[in-house]
Amino acid sequence: GLFTVQIGHGRRELAEAAAKQMQELSFFPLWSYAHPKAVELAERLISYAPSSLNRVFFTTGGGEAVESAWKAAKMYYKLIGKPMKHKVISRSVAYHGTPQGALAITGIPDAKKYFEPLTPGGFRVPNTNFYRAEYHADDIKAYGRWAADRIAEAIEFEGADTVAAVFLEPVQNSGGCFTAPKSYFKRIREICDKYDVLLIADETIDGFGRIGTMFASELYEFEPDMLVCAKGITSAYQPLGALLLSEKLFEPFKKGTAIFPHGYTFAGHPVACAVALENLNIFEEEDLVGNVRRNAPAFRSTLEKLKDLPIVGDVRGEGYFYAIELVKDKTTRETFNDAESEKLLRGFLSTDLYNAGLYCRSDDRGDPVVQLAPPLTIGQKEFDYLEQTLRSSLSKAWDLF
Ligand code: PLP
Repeated sequence: GLFTVQIGHGRRELAEAAAKQMQELSFFPLWSYAHPKAVELAERLISYAPSSLNRVFFTTGGGEAVESAWKAAKMYYKLIGKPMKHKVISRSVAYHGTPQGALAITGIPDAKKYFEPLTPGGFRVPNTNFYRAEYHADDIKAYGRWAADRIAEAIEFEGADTVAAVFLEPVQNSGGCFTAPKSYFKRIREICDKYDVLLIADETIDGFGRIGTMFASELYEFEPDMLVCAKGITSAYQPLGALLLSEKLFEPFKKGTAIFPHGYTFAGHPVACAVALENLNIFEEEDLVGNVRRNAPAFRSTLEKLKDLPIVGDVRGEGYFYAIELVKDKTTRETFNDAESEKLLRGFLSTDLYNAGLYCRSDDRGDPVVQLAPPLTIGQKEFDYLEQTLRSSLSKAWDLF
């Protein structure tokens, strides 16, 4: 599906938490006010977040949180006397949502072309597709350094006094689960500090245990200035998103002379917050993040068995978030052309996998991939089922060509 259902489907506890909340307090706005469940959830999120983050702004999903992050960045720089800083840098092929600001941060031309011109100020740098690295293809750290330095270059090209933020997903979904070494994020942090640019981690998918820590920034050991999260926050039982911010961002609002004139009627809805809290209780009771951490190596090695198939070029990802890149020729890494990709993904694999009971994503916003983001509750039995189902469908897919 859409990388959301961390605790699995059909959990009665969440339905009960929603029903209870509807009877206690069915709605209360967060504009100018707060309500107990939003306060409790905000505290809970901060307890899991990188230590630099201690403020929370709720939304109803990931795209709104990305939008809110950009607006917060622009306003912050206006309030501290750097009003020219407004541009954002993000990575090629990355998806950050559909509102016009978030879409301007998105790096997928086909997702944008019918809506141009979008909010001005979005600039792209290379992502970390190491499988197709044009430089340092035999040294991931050197490649990461090269990719991080493209951000410094983009800031220099645009002028640091006009750049407000860098947006990135620690593991980039679009294109197929691109990971990067810790040194990549360390270098980006240095670059952002040098040029006074905010580093914003979009953890809409990566957050809530998906890659083996509560937030991915923890795994990659970097401190963002803001962190976007959504999806797994409620395991998709309710729509909710959140933007976590560092105290630095809140500082100019402390004096009581400025407010952030931005928000959504249903942001931090009491029912969504109650469901999120119950979802996070289940995370703790069942040690779901620990389950991912313990089983991640077995998940990787089970999926890597598929590498013996002629159509499987690469298996990559982290935790319970993986992509299998499909190729026409393993040796040369030649990919499928547009028509072949259409036939392979939409014409065959999506339906065949669905019919076999496996709901996963076949995508070609970059090169063709099948992506897996299973519930965090699963273990070896389900890994084997995934591997065998994929093996059968991918073998049939190869025979189409
Ligand atoms: N950012 C990332 C990294 C996403 O993956 C998504 C959605 O998949 C979004 C933002 C947009 O989230 P939403 O669909 O909740 O608006």
